[in-house]
Amino acid sequence: MAKRFVYFFGGGRAEGEGTMKEVLGGKGAGLAEMANLGIPVPAGFTISTEMCTVYYQNRGKFPAELRTAVDKAMARVEKIMGMRFGDPANPLLVSCRSGARRSMPGMMETVLNIGLTSKTIPGLIAKTGNPRFVYDAYRRLIQMYSDVVMEKAAGVEPAEGMGIRAQLEREMQKLKAAKGCKQDTDLTEDDLKALVGTYKAKIQEVLGKPFPDEPQEQLWGGIRAVFQSWMGKRACSYRRIEGIPDDWGTAVNVQAMVFGNMGDTSATGVAFTRNPATGDNHFYGEWLPNAQGEDVVAGIRTPNPLNEATRPAGTEHLPSLERAMPATYRELHAIRNKLERHYRDMQDIEFTIQEGRLWMLQTRVGKRNGPSAVRMAVDMLKEKLITAEQAVLRVTPGQLDELLHPILDPAAEAQAKAIAKGLPAGPGGACGQVVFTASSAVEWAKQGKKVILVREETNPEDVEGMRAAEAILTARGGMTSHAALVARGWGKCCIVGAGAIHVDPHARQLAVDSTVVREGDWLSLNGTKGAVYLGRLPMVVGSEENPYFVAFMKTCDKVRRLGVRANADTPADAAKARQFGAQGIGLFRTEHMFYGKGAEEPLFKLRKMIHSKTVAERRKALEELFPHIKADIKATLAAMDGLPVTIRLLDPPLHEFVPSREDERARLAQSLNITMAELAARADALRETNPMMGHRGVRLGITYPEISETWLRGIFEAAAELIKEGKKALPEIMIPVTCDVSELKHQAELTKQVHDAVAAKYGMKKIPHLYGTMIEIPRAALRAGEIAAATEFFSFGTNDLTQMTYGFSRDDIGSFVPDLIEKKLLPADPFQMLDQAGVGELMKLGIERGRATRPNLKIGICGEHGGEPSSVKFCHKVGMNYVSCSPFRVPIARLAAAQAVAEEGAAKPKKAGKKVVEGDK
Ligand code: PEP
Ligand code: MG
Repeated sequence: MAKRFVYFFGGGRAEGEGTMKEVLGGKGAGLAEMANLGIPVPAGFTISTEMCTVYYQNRGKFPAELRTAVDKAMARVEKIMGMRFGDPANPLLVSCRSGARRSMPGMMETVLNIGLTSKTIPGLIAKTGNPRFVYDAYRRLIQMYSDVVMEKAAGVEPAEGMGIRAQLEREMQKLKAAKGCKQDTDLTEDDLKALVGTYKAKIQEVLGKPFPDEPQEQLWGGIRAVFQSWMGKRACSYRRIEGIPDDWGTAVNVQAMVFGNMGDTSATGVAFTRNPATGDNHFYGEWLPNAQGEDVVAGIRTPNPLNEATRPAGTEHLPSLERAMPATYRELHAIRNKLERHYRDMQDIEFTIQEGRLWMLQTRVGKRNGPSAVRMAVDMLKEKLITAEQAVLRVTPGQLDELLHPILDPAAEAQAKAIAKGLPAGPGGACGQVVFTASSAVEWAKQGKKVILVREETNPEDVEGMRAAEAILTARGGMTSHAALVARGWGKCCIVGAGAIHVDPHARQLAVDSTVVREGDWLSLNGTKGAVYLGRLPMVVGSEENPYFVAFMKTCDKVRRLGVRANADTPADAAKARQFGAQGIGLFRTEHMFYGKGAEEPLFKLRKMIHSKTVAERRKALEELFPHIKADIKATLAAMDGLPVTIRLLDPPLHEFVPSREDERARLAQSLNITMAELAARADALRETNPMMGHRGVRLGITYPEISETWLRGIFEAAAELIKEGKKALPEIMIPVTCDVSELKHQAELTKQVHDAVAAKYGMKKIPHLYGTMIEIPRAALRAGEIAAATEFFSFGTNDLTQMTYGFSRDDIGSFVPDLIEKKLLPADPFQMLDQAGVGELMKLGIERGRATRPNLKIGICGEHGGEPSSVKFCHKVGMNYVSCSPFRVPIARLAAAQAVAEEGAAKPKKAGKKVVEGDK
């Protein structure tokens, strides 16, 4: 059988269904599913996404069988709608809309009112008795068609402001000014008739072609334009940002027109089954009476609220649909409930009311920001619409990350006075310098500046600038405008329709009454409230007080099996890690006590130690250093009371600590009682050509056992004292940069000696601890079988393991890795996203060999990858016990670990009361 490219829907049934997004695109699949559910949908048909691919393969030619299939489908539409396409007496008009697998709001093209020609106009006038409406529909067709089909799809690239749509728009403004009209709706039938004539002449003049007066030509022009728009500039930009492959293609939906602009009993609107900005479980939307859908989503008009319960402050003067058309609203509300129950997710819907009759034009899973994604997942789980496994898949790591980002400090905000208020289209806080064009936003952001993009109205053409900006602020537009939708999808703070703001992009300034804000000035936005402030307000992280965040993380913990720890080097970081839900510390880099605030004294003593020449000299310096080491370790163990702490012995090459400042060198020489020349000679001796592969890690502890001894004594004494104080200290001693079991045996011997001595000193039989190693050199992974015999745990140091597997110096990748990525020779930076194929293979091998020797070997990861979602999922898959990452990434890792379980279909019901398995206990 020949491949099907056209799928009909309407009259209570459809040839496709909701699961066929890949073929029908999101919009087509939604229309088919609604038709199958018995929801009123104007009849139509979907030309599949596969045809888009064929179209591009055939260099813009349609196969003959498509024409036949379209004719047949059109005949079915005509039958159901009781009208005929191109019939002068009873004309059917259609729309042509795009629809990719994943929604790309406003990024592709739509043409409405196709089929209006000099022959069908009289018929439609006779039928509707409304010539004004017909000419309004006609001028809209001409405007859209000339822009989308005759200019964009034809590859015409006009100069800024000289596009045909803008030129026609200017003609309309001229006419309105001449007639003294304020609104488009003030134009009369005769005005519109004259305007249509002007439009046609302008099109001939600018594009050198007449506007087509033949329905079939219009139809195929529309279909072609939608396919062409898949490769349009903004669609390509959006796909690149969103990672949508070019070869997916778009479908084309050809659908009978229904009109929201047929008078006062007609209307159009866009709604969400729940509030997409906050997640609140209330039907939320916007509508306009006597209008077409484009009027709501184009961002040019600020629409009316859908109902009373969700009416934003400041809209008291606007009528809600609930009040204006109560019966239709009730019908719409019932459809809302039906769709939510059916899809078990928030839907983004479009509807039109034609002379009191409700029609649904779209349903798709609604885009949302982080806070609302979390809230909806929690609420829907509670409502039993979804399972815990489904709930954790409802929030992407990026969305969760939004909750960990700062909001305006409420205390500072209470003191500040808002200069303007708008609709809270994308919550959260943002501060930035004002720019007025998308291109400045991109440029400034490239220079590392934080910018707020201020525009008169939201416009999908600004997609690159919106992406680059911290936040978006507009004077006009509604919550459901395409640009607000896109911003929200990216978790951007966004305020739209702040009517008090007068934007002047040419003068690069905005004004609110007498206050003027120029390009580069700072603004602060509260996107949750819709408030705009002058200057730079301080920010704070708000996730901890968010009860939905807390509940969501609990759900993640119930689902996941992988433990999550944090990399933390200070008691403050340890406390932060605990707060974020870390189940222990997976890496305590003890050398970090020599950096930063309060580190001057220990650093000085460490320097003394490394510049020592004899063992006696070194031991003396280590004795001085010891109290610092012990105190530091003790404070962190105390902060993690009851949870394991992996403490790493000294790792970095010693020369890193050689002082460069003259006064520091002088103090050191004096303290060591040596000359400056002697100090310089000793420092020189520490220099290495390739320190990353030099005298570091376990090699230090072998050359200078007294260094390891001091660290081990610090660990055991700190633990013993805490235990005596009634605390639960669980130190795990970790040896870095190992490549052979012999090194581990050597250090194990020292560990035992120090342990026994400290235990005796404190009158204890045993100080609980584990002994383990990092696996961060390929050889260690290969020899894991032997290494496991001498260790109780492994922790993969994937920073060094990546460095040594690739042979890429981790400190020097800046000069070549971006180039490799750009040339598509590397899929991603392997230091950020674990290279599962190479480094991951070594890890699998290490785990297999290690566990073959010691089945209960505890295994974790402490490289940067421990907080990167795809790498966390890999760690789950290969059977690790835990991942360890920086404290702020702990929630992300908890989510990714839960998603790993949900994705592998481990949605089997768990035993009641089963707690999170702390994989590393
Ligand atoms: C590693 O190499 O992955 C690691 C955690 O150690 P460091 O980054 O301190 O070398
Ligand atoms: Mg390392």
